[in-house]
Amino acid sequence: MKNKKGFTTTILHSDRLLKPEFGALHQPIHTAVTWGYEDVNGLIDVFQNKTKGYAYSRQGNPTVTALENKVTQMENGLSTVAFSTGMAAISATISSLLKKDDHIIASSYLFGNTRSIMQTFTEIGIQISFVDVTDIENVKKAYQQNTRMVFVETIANPATQIAALDEIGTFCSENNLLYVVDNTMTSPYLFKSINVKASLVINSLTKYIGGHGNALGGSVTDTGLYDWNNFSNIAPILKEQISPALLGITQIRKRGLRDGGGTLSPEAAHSISVGSETLALRLERTCSNALILARFLEDHQLVKKVNYPGLESHPQHKIASELFDGFGGLMSFELDDKVDCVTFLNRLKIVIKSSNLGDTRTLAIPVARTIFHELGAERRKEMGIEDSLIRLSIGIEDTQDLIDDFTQALY
Ligand SMILES: *Cc1c(COP(=O)(O)O)cnc(C)c1O
Repeated sequence: MKNKKGFTTTILHSDRLLKPEFGALHQPIHTAVTWGYEDVNGLIDVFQNKTKGYAYSRQGNPTVTALENKVTQMENGLSTVAFSTGMAAISATISSLLKKDDHIIASSYLFGNTRSIMQTFTEIGIQISFVDVTDIENVKKAYQQNTRMVFVETIANPATQIAALDEIGTFCSENNLLYVVDNTMTSPYLFKSINVKASLVINSLTKYIGGHGNALGGSVTDTGLYDWNNFSNIAPILKEQISPALLGITQIRKRGLRDGGGTLSPEAAHSISVGSETLALRLERTCSNALILARFLEDHQLVKKVNYPGLESHPQHKIASELFDGFGGLMSFELDDKVDCVTFLNRLKIVIKSSNLGDTRTLAIPVARTIFHELGAERRKEMGIEDSLIRLSIGIEDTQDLIDDFTQALY
């Protein structure tokens, strides 16, 4: 597009500009697994990366491409590969770019399943240091000769710590490190990782971008900032065929989709595309609901502590205000010892007891007994997770209904 339009306008008109058949406003759901060519040279050229085209749906599909384009536009990036889930995107990013004996510096507050897959990668020879990324000094101290990647999230789940995003970006670019930012909690509407010099941006499309709890998906976006000429793990065959800027994302597509097979279905891509049209509207309501509720909880006698970046009491409130266009929909809080968290949760009538987040509906979960149960008491303590901690993912309900629900349940 010539004129850079606003966030929502760009998404709304993204498919139409691809000129789908009959003037359709959406890219259709292409269910074909394979594509036929009149002239076999066309197929040969696609296989040899000489022209863009489709051969087999595991590694590319027009419905999925339309969604990939939207994510690229949202992130102000260069190119995106979509996956079947956020976890598929994360595991493909690591497994397609790193080798045995490479070293990652990762946040110690990672999403539980990301932490777990990283632990698995250490068993096949990748080295990982988990550090408190709220302080750049910890990242610097963990740096080694074989460090290739720094992996952080914007806002940590469930205790909402915020990485020193900007300083880590500067450190990575000075040291030729791949800087991978999982932007799921903020989404590209609240935060553009390219502004802190991220090389690759991960999104779980399942969460805010899809937004309705009805489709799984994930993505990796290359911001275009990293110089892949300096990256030692690019396959020689790609260097012969692909322009330098697209080397990284192409290797992720080939190894992650063609070989790894974590492909997003066209049906899910379509649901996520439609959901993404209202990302801005949903997040504005979500952020405003979340701030009102966080203040309500912080003032409540039976609440000990609230973790929400929008509160002045949050340790990284200043950074969050500078970097993000809103404080997101994730918060967590501890109840007073007098209130049993299971009893309290069961009293809630509108808020749903569920493990997802980024839904239009407000969801709550007791952290220690569910998503962080496997970690054990000791690791939970290290991560600042008390037994009574409750995580909330705030939705777009009418604000007063949420306040009323919490009011009637808190006694
Ligand atoms: C949910 C989540 C993921 C994983 O995404 P799925 O689509 O559920 O596989 C990764 N990172 C973060 C921060 C998440 O919240």
